[in-house]
This record gives sequence, structure tokens and C-alpha cells, in this order.
Amino acid sequence: MANIVVLTGAGISAESGLKTFRDLGGLWETHSVEDLASPAGFRKNPQLVLDFYNLRRKQALEAQPNAAHLALAELEKKHHVQIITQNVDDLHERAGSSKVLHLHGELRKVRSTQDASLIYDIDEIDPENLEIHVGCTCEKGSQLRPHIVWFGEMVPEIEKAAELCRTADFFLVVGTSLMVFPAAALIHEVPAATRKCIIDPNLPDVSGIPNLYTIQEKATAGVPRLVEKLLG
Ligand code: NAD
Repeated sequence: MANIVVLTGAGISAESGLKTFRDLGGLWETHSVEDLASPAGFRKNPQLVLDFYNLRRKQALEAQPNAAHLALAELEKKHHVQIITQNVDDLHERAGSSKVLHLHGELRKVRSTQDASLIYDIDEIDPENLEIHVGCTCEKGSQLRPHIVWFGEMVPEIEKAAELCRTADFFLVVGTSLMVFPAAALIHEVPAATRKCIIDPNLPDVSGIPNLYTIQEKATAGVPRLVEKLLG
């Protein structure tokens, strides 16, 4: 039983119909990243930011796990599998993966703007519409916000993720441009002797990383084939 650590990004959910960062469209096209996904944007126009996440939450909950998510869950039959995801959807969990660390938060969850430890599942707040608006408050009376790491905010789980990477016997990267830091630097935490693999139709620049091989394919083609080998 090997200790397999998998870093995933928006590309693994692309074939479930969730657009990647660069192709998000909609509000992403008419507003800047700072307006939609930063603390300053939330201060400037909180309802715009909440609307953006209300929409993304609905899209994510309507999407279904694809063959790549399902194959990674299947891999647990033979190996210890730790997923570290930059994604804010819950497709790994719904595919059946049991160990998922969300680096950038979760669309399903919302939290207090005053007390970050007050985190709620959206079902507890608005089970019918799965939305939050200006005026929706936590039990202490403060405005709720998405449980998402915005640009310019700390990534609270990054040290835990780095520690997991240091223990990997095999490291797999799927569907990330490796352009968003600090997540993009995690590959450098993996021991030089550990075998590493990247699956992506547009391979990121990974020159200088030892023991790495690449599979230039979409996730739903490349991941199930690799998993079959790892299970074999
Ligand atoms: P990114 O948009 O920067 O890169 C996406 C990568 O996926 C690219 O390298 C692209 O070539 C690849 N890709 C596209 N289609 C693919 C497919 N079918 N199979 C495999 N790979 C494919 O995304 P990122 O690196 O994850 O970073 C962007 C940020 O955007 C993250 O912080 C993440 O939280 C956020 N985001 C999340 C979601 C989600 O939760 N589903 C969606 C969009 C953006």
C-alpha cells in the first residue's frame, strides 16, 4: 500500500461542466478578480460578491463527479490516497474520496465575517435556495461570507498540505496551471526521490523537477488509465 498524494485543480472538474479559472466567463468577464474574489471587493460591493458565489455554488452542486474523480476514489481500494485540491466544489467527496484537503475553501460552506471559527453548511442557512445575501448573519449577529480563500488572504491549510507532500511515495498532479501560489509551490515539497506525474492537456512549465513524467491528456482519459496501472 503506497501513500499517494494527489494535487488537483480546476481542470479535473472541467469535464463535469465547471469552468476553469481562465474560462469562467459570466461575472468573471465583466468584473475584475479583485471585485469578485478579494476582501476589498467584498467591502466595496458585498452583494455582487455573494451573487457570484451563489451562482458558482449552484453550478457546482448541480455538477456530477466525472471518471477522473471516480477513479481517484477507486484508488483507495489498494492505496492510501490523500487528495489536496484547489477546487471549491465537492466532486471528490461525492465521488467517494475519503481524505480531501481543500486549500481554497468550499462553496458548500459559509462563515462569519467576525469569527472565522463559525462555519456553517449552506443547508443550515438556506436549504431551499442555497444562497446567502447581505443581512444573512451568524449566531453572533455578524454578516456571513463564503468559506473561500480570496486573493490576498492567507491559505490556512498550506502547512498541513506541505507536510502531506513530504510524505508522498507517489505524487500526482491533475488539471492545475500551477500558477496560483502558494499551492503551485507544493510540488517542491515532494522528496526528490518520489515519482511524480502530471496529467493535463496543456502541460504547465515544470522544468527542473526531478523524477517527473507527464501525460498530456484530459483528466477523464489520463486519470482512469493511470489508476488502472496503480491498482494492477
Ligand atoms: P487554472 O484555471 O489556473 O488551470 C486549469 C488547468 O486545467 C490548466 O492547466 C488546464 O490546461 C487544465 N485543464 C483544462 N481542462 C482539463 C481537463 N479536461 N483535464 C485536465 N486538465 C484540464 O486552475 P487552477 O490551477 O486550479 O487555479 C485556479 C484557481 O481557481 C484555484 O484557486 C481554484 O480554487 C479556482 N477554481 C476552482 C474551480 C472548482 O472548484 N471547480 C473552478 C474554477 C476555478
